[in-house]
Amino acid sequence: MATSTAQHILHTSIAYLKGVGDIRAELLKKELGIATYNDLLHTFPFRFIDKTKFNKIIHLTTANDTVQITGTITYIETLGQAHAKRIKATFNDGTGNLDLTWFNMLPWVEKTVLTGQKYLVFGKLSFFNGMPQITHPEIELLDDNFTNLANKNKLEPVYSSTEKLKAKMLNGRQIGKLTAQLFGLLQPHHILENLSQSILDTYKLMPRFSAFKNIHFPNNNAAYEAAVRRLKFEELFFSQLAVQQRKLFNKTQNRGFVFPIVGNAFTQFYNNHLPFTLTNAQKKVIKEIRHDTATGRQMNRLLQGDVGSGKTIVALITMLIAADNGYQSTLMAPTEILSRQHYEGLTTMLGNMPIKIMLLTGSVKVKQRRLIHAALLDGSCHILVGTHAIIEDVVQFKQLGFVVIDEQHRFGVAQRARLWAKASLPPHMLVMTATPIPRTLAMTAYGDLDCSIMDELPPGRTPIKTLHKTDDFRAATMKFVREQIDQGRQIYFIFPLIEESDKLDFENLMAGYDNVKAYFPEPKYYISMVHGRMKADLKNANMERFVNNTTQIMVSTTVIEVGVNVPNATVMVIESAERFGLSQLHQLRGRVGRGVHQSFCILLTSPKIGANTKQRMQIMVSTNNGFIIAEKDMELRGPGDIEGTRQSGMAAFKIANIIDDKIMLQAIHTIVENLLQADPNLMLPVNQATHQYLLTQKHKKGWGNIA
Ligand code: ADP
Ligand code: MG
Repeated sequence: MATSTAQHILHTSIAYLKGVGDIRAELLKKELGIATYNDLLHTFPFRFIDKTKFNKIIHLTTANDTVQITGTITYIETLGQAHAKRIKATFNDGTGNLDLTWFNMLPWVEKTVLTGQKYLVFGKLSFFNGMPQITHPEIELLDDNFTNLANKNKLEPVYSSTEKLKAKMLNGRQIGKLTAQLFGLLQPHHILENLSQSILDTYKLMPRFSAFKNIHFPNNNAAYEAAVRRLKFEELFFSQLAVQQRKLFNKTQNRGFVFPIVGNAFTQFYNNHLPFTLTNAQKKVIKEIRHDTATGRQMNRLLQGDVGSGKTIVALITMLIAADNGYQSTLMAPTEILSRQHYEGLTTMLGNMPIKIMLLTGSVKVKQRRLIHAALLDGSCHILVGTHAIIEDVVQFKQLGFVVIDEQHRFGVAQRARLWAKASLPPHMLVMTATPIPRTLAMTAYGDLDCSIMDELPPGRTPIKTLHKTDDFRAATMKFVREQIDQGRQIYFIFPLIEESDKLDFENLMAGYDNVKAYFPEPKYYISMVHGRMKADLKNANMERFVNNTTQIMVSTTVIEVGVNVPNATVMVIESAERFGLSQLHQLRGRVGRGVHQSFCILLTSPKIGANTKQRMQIMVSTNNGFIIAEKDMELRGPGDIEGTRQSGMAAFKIANIIDDKIMLQAIHTIVENLLQADPNLMLPVNQATHQYLLTQKHKKGWGNIA
């Protein structure tokens, strides 16, 4: 059968290619990860040497780099003695003469290069005393009629190599010789088509075998481009197929709890406790969640809402619906501070309602912990708020039905799986993030989740004014800050402490604190400081003092990045802003602009910043829209660097990338959606090529389940 032959030959060890052998095979595997024919097939050249053109000697100038010429050797002589020995030949193509010189491999040259013979020479051109010459040309004997030239005009592939491989005669072009050898062994049936004829026709894609052939050995640029396009299409197609099939599977197969009713808890809260009118975006998302949780399938939903869009109330309302249906909920947040704030915020909103809400974090004392464990087990606790302390195995619920994870990127896949294990069926999952995920990334890395987007801020907010200033404006900044404090407002100063262990950064933070203190002395002004090296109690105490306005200034690292809500804070000063990524700057900025007062974000950078940094600051100044910022961030940094891509293996695209191939990805997303709608299990005859291919790929590692 064709399939088994294909497996057989492509899985052959690379050692079996002529000129490889065990030692080079070992090295190829170690240096480039090439162990089999299939690996070599999937190792693409990074550039080509253009051998599509032939030169005439009469036209050669110093502007020529490498040249390719056919002609005859008219004269050969050996010059010099012993180590200085060299061979010089005159090569004539009917339009002029060219000197060829060899210093090495002279015995081979003496045997191979003969006067009166016709050759094809190729090499780097130089001029000596006005005479064109090539040192160590590639040279190949031609027959009398030049008929073996037919295959010579081509783009010759060059592959990445390493010093160790080069030392073993495997440089970038020599690897190409191996690939050429491989294609001498391969037939079209060894590289089976995996896209349907209808897709190939509709999107004018090259057949699979030709694509592999042409990505290595194209006849011209157009053929190469077509091969790349086909292989990118294939890669994106199968990745979309994988995520969308999993999503479909989750939707149709993963049983979940049913929340059919809206009861007292919801109604009472909605009528008597809701402190404001919900935005349309909030209503829409609540509806989506209600719909999901009524289907009998497990919900896996990602809620993206810009900072301040009001995700917390959505979480609370849906947790109340869970309670109305007899289920417990939990809300997990990444930090102690944030958990506490959620707990206090929710408690205040619930007022005297008969809903029991408890807080579990690492610093909760044993006695209280026992109470919590008991209340969870007997079902008297309806909502548990906390940090990752919640996922510990000792924490067991009577009937956990709904899990909300705030700021998801801090929680790993394995941790979420442990939450699932706490209930008889996997609980519904709502993952909330204020770091908007660019559309293309949402489609790929998070493609198996349902997405809700809250793209609307509650009314009455005055947009934050953002300014970019160099350090020379520090005095003016401080003056402005003082005016704000004197009007009763509060201020954040943020210092970069990317690695909390970084000594220099830490000293910077301390120097920064002293500097702020010099401008704002006690007893008129009080300052809180929070950083990652602090003990939890001290951190909480400092935070608390800022939250209740005992201190007017918060000097902090990015530990306050997510979630903290102090509506009276109106100025966010970010020191060394050039050291932060765009998304992080946006998160930090989101700490202000949460109340009725006009808020400001001041980005301080060194006066000497590069173009890229300038661009980032400019983006921050020009927009408050987190979605736009996320897209720009991805463009500037590349997809491999975006939160979430590493853990999901998303950066592993071989040839496509979600920035340059955004349009193709969006098209394929729809193509796959339609295909699966018509034929979810790929059983139709038209999809057999795809189906068969997937069967051969079964053994490969699947994508980790994100939620
Ligand atoms: P985030 O989406 O960043 O988590 P929060 O849930 O913390 O946002 O809400 C930010 C602020 O907006 C809170 O003070 C909250 O009470 C307020 N808020 C939320 N929804 C509304 C609304 N519909 N109308 C007015 N204020 C709202
Ligand atoms: Mg929040």
